[in-house]
Amino acid sequence: MKIINIILLSLFLNTFYTQGQPVKEHGQLSVKGRFLTDQNGEPLMLSGVSYGWHNWWPRFYNGQSVKWLAEDWGCNVVRAAMGVGPKGSYLDRREWSVEKIEAVINGAIKNDIYVIIDWHSHDIHENEAKEFFAEMAKKYGKHPNVIYEIFNEPVKDSWNDIKKYSIEVIKAIREFDPDNVILVGCPHWDQDIHIVADSPIEGFNNLMYTVHFYAATHKQSLRERGDYAISKGIPIFVSESAGMEASGNGAINYEEWQNWIEWMKINKISWVSWSVADKNETCSMLKPSASDFGNWEKEDLKESGIKTRELMRKMAGLD
Ligand code: MG
Repeated sequence: MKIINIILLSLFLNTFYTQGQPVKEHGQLSVKGRFLTDQNGEPLMLSGVSYGWHNWWPRFYNGQSVKWLAEDWGCNVVRAAMGVGPKGSYLDRREWSVEKIEAVINGAIKNDIYVIIDWHSHDIHENEAKEFFAEMAKKYGKHPNVIYEIFNEPVKDSWNDIKKYSIEVIKAIREFDPDNVILVGCPHWDQDIHIVADSPIEGFNNLMYTVHFYAATHKQSLRERGDYAISKGIPIFVSESAGMEASGNGAINYEEWQNWIEWMKINKISWVSWSVADKNETCSMLKPSASDFGNWEKEDLKESGIKTRELMRKMAGLD
């Protein structure tokens, strides 16, 4: 066999065996300039879905639903949204909460996709966050699958306070995990990326900043804030998004949602859609008929679930 044939055959086999195995294909992620990059230093765009608050939708937190989202929806990332604050969430039910989150983390590792460990809080709980993320980094930092999101959506805290908090939590993670990507929240529900862009965190590697959009509420003016941040070389990750209003309700604005998707594609920004839940609201993707463990039929999906699955499959090249 000629050497060129051997090279072509090995390239083919490599593609063949890693298709549908995103972590095998892309490996350890890092941040170069404003891009999320894979083990070869190539910019990479992740696309996937977020589970709803674990304290309200624990039934979906299992490895089988992760497998379904990876295989049938084509997600290469899922986000485990660990509720922090409401009654029955992390602060007063720690062991059970960690068990739920770990079911999704382990499901993602087993199914070879990436997973975001999301501290789903609207307020600062610094000591608890440091303790939790140190535990996670110690246990999962060696897995290339894991991404840490240390503050879902700050509401009333200034960037100055969020920045101070973030530096402390980043230090707690970096003590055990020198390299996995960390997502940092922005003030006002991840809307104020322009403020962050003027004063990013310095001295740590592999950090990105989150922007959240709900397309019927957030439109061109938020994308312009994003453009400003991009012009300053700020790495953006859209860790939560969807097509309806910011309340999670109201009609889906398909045109604006598409505008966002185009914007993210042009800028190679990874995005996650909200959420795997069965509440009677537009943003919940599932109906109460949906099984805990995936295998969802079209009639188990709500409008937002049908559209999100379609978008994800397209991103994965399945359709
Ligand atoms: Mg690591």
